[in-house]
Parts: sequence; structure tokens; C-alpha cells
Amino acid sequence: KAVRAKGLKVDVKLEKHDDVDCLFSRSGCRGFCQVGPLVTVEPSDTHYVKVKPEDADEIVEKTIMADEYVERLLYVDPVTGEKCSRTADIPFYKRQDRYVLGNCGRLDAEDINQYIADGGYTAARMAYTELEPKQICDMVEKAGLRGRGGGGFSTGRKWNLTLPQKSDKKYIICNGDEGDPGAFMDRSLMEGNPHRVLEGMMIAARAIGADEGYIYVRAEYPLAVERVQKAVDDAEKLGILGEDVFGSGVNLKLFVMEGAGAFVCGEETALIASIEGRRGMPMPKPPFPAECGLWGKPTCINNVETLATVPLILRDGVDKFLAYGTESSPGTKTFALTGHVANTGLIEVPFGVTVREIVYDIGGGVTDDAGNILEDGFKAVQVGGPSGGCLTKDHLDLGMDFDSLRSIGAMVGSGGLVVMNKNTCMVQIAHFFMKFTQNESCGKCVPCREGTKQMLKLLEDIIEGRGTMETIELLERIASAVGKGSLCGLGKTAPNPVLTTLRFFRDEYIAHVEDKR
Ligand code: SF4
Repeated sequence: KAVRAKGLKVDVKLEKHDDVDCLFSRSGCRGFCQVGPLVTVEPSDTHYVKVKPEDADEIVEKTIMADEYVERLLYVDPVTGEKCSRTADIPFYKRQDRYVLGNCGRLDAEDINQYIADGGYTAARMAYTELEPKQICDMVEKAGLRGRGGGGFSTGRKWNLTLPQKSDKKYIICNGDEGDPGAFMDRSLMEGNPHRVLEGMMIAARAIGADEGYIYVRAEYPLAVERVQKAVDDAEKLGILGEDVFGSGVNLKLFVMEGAGAFVCGEETALIASIEGRRGMPMPKPPFPAECGLWGKPTCINNVETLATVPLILRDGVDKFLAYGTESSPGTKTFALTGHVANTGLIEVPFGVTVREIVYDIGGGVTDDAGNILEDGFKAVQVGGPSGGCLTKDHLDLGMDFDSLRSIGAMVGSGGLVVMNKNTCMVQIAHFFMKFTQNESCGKCVPCREGTKQMLKLLEDIIEGRGTMETIELLERIASAVGKGSLCGLGKTAPNPVLTTLRFFRDEYIAHVEDKR
């Protein structure tokens, strides 16, 4: 049969047209969660939404054989009511720059040959055969790539700190322990473009002089674990990974490691402890992992999205990368857009795009609980998950980049974006995130272990009508102490949702204690 059902987990059967020469391929996620499952027909770029397996025959009959559309499967814009037949015309995609996510939804993630045919592993080959480690570090530093996992530290600088360390062994670690509620950027990359992540790791290993690496993926992402493992196996089979990479004389062995899902294991030293088989608890720094990391050896840890960006810098050049984003935050960032917004999903935009553009142009506007568009319904957006902060109407024209967000007490974090409408209680939101961080606190240091408990208790008192003005003041004082006194990033940033809601929505706290709500 000319029809090849390839890599499909859904049961697609062509009852009538099983002689048509087309390839069914299960690609990675295209990000438009609101209207999935999605089907794209290439090369026409025809985009169908909410597709069921029984629609397959009609799609083949009309779109592949007759160049027509299946009208009922086209996307309808909730604001204008217009139907869009091509991916490129849908507002959700129109305003995005899907650079790092480019292959997600385009290539079969389980087929290494598709990745190679698309130019994959050319950047890694260049790193192993044409460039010296120092040149790679400098190139990435010049590109201004900053860690996408939260901190925003310069990746090239981090590599440049690890490279000169004298040791018989060095390690590279890919941090795939994404744990923010509502965030799934790294998951999508590992599931949809695992070879790009591996290629980034190979380049990072070459840059710092590592010959062994670990991809730490949370066990709640079974498909990501499966696909990354398959990618490693396939790359080894083709001789891309293993001994004498690209004939350079350099060896590289990569292992996939499943984490048990503790949020704190996203912290570098806790992650290292977890790989070593110890309880995932942070350690004081210094020493930094660059000097003394996994099993006491120099180690570099980069997040999934950061590593997936690296091959593009080598492949396309520093200047192309610098053309995206802002001067201090070059490149693009993926965000998980959720909450009271018409178009939820995974988006990628250049740094510097405003909150308004994300919520209205890409997100399609603010909705009520039933999904109907609310005129003038925007209240806030929580950026950066439980470590981040709330932005208000006043920040709608704020550029989304590392420094602008930090200047108002928020952070890019890993990229969660939860939109809230005017009916949302911001004290409840602060309580939701505090409950999460309190639950995830590892308990090692007192300010975080006891402080988050106290903050949660005070928030409950306020919500349940037992609070007073003194309760709000005490909450603010404890929040400030927890941020200053905690050992690791989890505790240091845990008060952010409370502090930003107190700063921008204090009247709601007061209304609670004055029993007006
Ligand atoms: Fe553990 Fe919290 Fe202290 Fe971090 S700040 S070490 S999560 S108790």
C-alpha cells in the first residue's frame, strides 16, 4: 500500500482512499492547545483543528486529491468570526517567531533521518571539526544567550567559567526538570524536537570539554523520556554520539535520567544530588558546579530550551540571533499561555514583545470562565510561575524581557503565563502559588521551611475572614524575610506572588480583612 501509517499512536484508517501516496506522520506539538488535535497538510500548509480519526478520508479526498478545504475543520477566529485555512494566516501563529520551536509540528520527532535531512547535526559537526572549544564559548557569549530556565545568566559566560577548570573529567547536564504549574515548554521541546536538544548538549559538551552528560527529565513526562532516549540510541547507532564524534577523536556518552518530580530539583545543586542518588536538596554556593559539581567534577548545567537554541546560533550565525529580541535579552522565548485567554497554548516570541501583544494579538483576548470574550476584562497576568510575579493593566505595554520584568519584581522564570480576568481574586492566586511552593520546599533551611508555612497560614486567615490589617503587615514582613534569608532560588523567589499582589492589589487584601468580599 502506498499509504504509510508512520509513528501514529491514534488509529487513523483510510477506508476509501488507501491508494493515495501520502505520508502520515505524528509530529511534535504545534502549540495551539485550545483547538487540538491539529492536522497540517503539507506542502499547502492547510491547517485543520479539532480533528478526529474518522475525518482522515475526507481530508485526503478534498485537500490532497482535489485541492479543496474541509470547511468544518477550519479554524474560526473567535473575535472576527473569519475562517483561516493556512497556518500562517491564523492570528495565534501570525505574531509568533517559531524559531526554537520551528521543528515542533513539522518533523517526526522519532525519525533522526528527518532531522538530519533538515540540516540537523551540522552545527554539532562544525563544533567538533571546525571550532575550538574557546571559540564556541565566545560565540555563544557574543550572541548574548541567557539561560531560559529562570535565572537569565549568560550561557557563554557559564561555559567560559567551566572550560578552564583542570580536571580529568567534566560533565554536561541538561536540566529537563520543568516543574512550574502550567508550564510545558521544555516538555514540548523534548517531545517534539529531541535531536535539537541533544545537538545543543553535544555542542555544550565540546565547548566545556565534557565527555559525559546527563539529560535529567522528570518522570511525569514519559513521552519526553521515551523520545529523548530514542534520540540518544539512534544518534549512537549512526555514530553521531559515542566514540570519536565526527572523527574528532573526542568521545561523548549521554545518559537519560528520570527525576521523581520534586520542584526543587530544578535547582542545580539539588539536581546534582539527585543524579548522584542522594536526596534532592540544594547546597550552599560556592563552590559552584563549574568548579565542583557532579561527583566533585566541573559540571555545566543548562536548561532544555537554552540548549535547543545553541545549534541555531552556530548554524545561522550570531548576527541572525541578535536580530531577535532586545539588546540585553537577545533571541526568542517560549511561553506557556494559559488561563482566561481565548487562545491557550505554547508560543514563541522575540524578547521585548509586550504583554498586550501576547494577550490580545496572539491570545485573542481575555475570556470569562465559559470562554466568551470579555470586553475590558483583563486584570493581571502571572509570569514565571510560582517564582514569578503578577503584572497588571499598567504593565500591558511592558516589554517581556529579563531586565524589564526584574525591574518590577517579576521574572521571566521558565516562561509560564497565566492570564486572569477581572473576576479573579488575587489573594486566592497568591494562596495557590504559595501552597505550591510550601509543598515543594525541601525543608533544609528555616526561613523557607517555616516562613512559607507561616505565609500560607496567614493567607488562609485572610481568605477565611480571620485576618486583620496586622495580618497583612505580618505577611509582608515574613515574605520579605523569606526572600532574603532562604538558601536557594525556590525560597528566595517563593514570596514573589505574595509581594507583587500586595504591591499591585493591596486593596483586595484589605477588602478581605474588612469583610467586604
Ligand atoms: Fe530547601 Fe527552601 Fe531552603 Fe531551598 S530555600 S534549600 S527549597 S528549604
